[in-house]
Amino acid sequence: MDTKLQETYDTVVRRNPGEAEFHQAVKEVFESLSPVLKRNPQYVDAAVLERICEPERQIIFRVPWMDDENNVQINRGFRVEFSSVLGPYKGGLRFHPSVYLGIIKFLGFEQIFKNSLTGMPIGGGKGGSDFDPRGRSEGEIMRFCQSFMTELYRHLGEYTDVPAGDIGVGGREIGYMFGQYKRITNRYESGVLTGKGLTWGGSLVRTEATGFGTVFFTEEMAKARGESLDGRRVVVSGSGNVAIYAAEKATELGAKVVGCSDSSGFIVDEEGLDLDLLKQVKEVERARIVEYANRRGSSATFSDTGSIWDVPCDVALPCATQNELNAEHARTLIKNGVKAVSEGANMPCTPDAVALLQEAGVAFGPGKAANAGGVATSALEMQQNASRDSWDFEYTEQRLHNIMIDIHERCAETAEEYGTPGNYVLGANIAGFTKVADAVIALGVI
Ligand code: GLU
Repeated sequence: MDTKLQETYDTVVRRNPGEAEFHQAVKEVFESLSPVLKRNPQYVDAAVLERICEPERQIIFRVPWMDDENNVQINRGFRVEFSSVLGPYKGGLRFHPSVYLGIIKFLGFEQIFKNSLTGMPIGGGKGGSDFDPRGRSEGEIMRFCQSFMTELYRHLGEYTDVPAGDIGVGGREIGYMFGQYKRITNRYESGVLTGKGLTWGGSLVRTEATGFGTVFFTEEMAKARGESLDGRRVVVSGSGNVAIYAAEKATELGAKVVGCSDSSGFIVDEEGLDLDLLKQVKEVERARIVEYANRRGSSATFSDTGSIWDVPCDVALPCATQNELNAEHARTLIKNGVKAVSEGANMPCTPDAVALLQEAGVAFGPGKAANAGGVATSALEMQQNASRDSWDFEYTEQRLHNIMIDIHERCAETAEEYGTPGNYVLGANIAGFTKVADAVIALGVI
């Protein structure tokens, strides 16, 4: 890192004490930027780094709600509106007990460059709450979502800030929040949230998009090496919508997906995952992953010790959460002959894991490129809403596929241009950053 980057990074750490994940995300991007600043001194003169690292607006609010025993519960809500130079703030809402300002800022920061890479007109933001949906009733979830939106609505708008889902927020929660927004504003403003249901303004392929996109990106990485996913052994972590639909697309492309996980453990199914059963257990019943093994019989085993990354595979797709794949896991994967690792989740690999994988010559797809299909399809949902149209599955999936091919190309070309062919981390960071930096300068000191 050159001096300017180091100084700015130190300022970020000082200004945002205790926010380790945010520091990590900033450092990860900055480590790619030295050659960019050398070529573009105007970025330094215009204080672009400082401006990008300071969110345009940060909202923290109380979320009061009544549980089923009539106790008043209090949670904390967040929305960090990071950058709107490329379009309205865009990014998901995460409901998870680990949420605090540092997690939301790391996600919001990543989102700026991810959204830039999609080529769509969307800025970066992220939000959420430390609310834990686990074990809560339908009524409790609904009342929480309504209360959350009762405060957040005043900051949103289809031209201002457009949230979607993330961990703990799916179609059900988006529905309750959209309903409350509509009731408060008396406006059927479809474009204010994405990830909506198909009968009330949602887009086909949005549910599948992040997982599908991750596999499309992985396929492009393989093609660039003269390989394919056909016949490959794949392990996916997580079992939410990213993991499930990554597994589905990988299977469609001829791979065998032999494992997935949740926070209670992981399963291995040597016959290849039964996707209908997985969906039944995780999407319909919202049960633990052990249920899959219980019902699948002898081909599947469940384990609550060790790590899913101990399972030998050609392709590893971390689709659960941040920092879930560390250096030790990376060493095991390399020892077992992994050829590609692609991030379906946001920042699931620790920095030392990424370094080890790259040194070992493993094709590595960073999240801001590899998982950009979700937010890109959100932008397609916004397009459909703005034109009061709805597209069919095939056309929408084709648009997503093309976007992922373009993102891969943009990253690969940029890496090449900067003398590090095949380094998608550098390619994604530089290509994502320069577009935002140019817009920051073009829009003046605002
Ligand atoms: N939460 C997703 C992400 O990390 C999607 C955001 C969106 O669709 O706005 O990119």
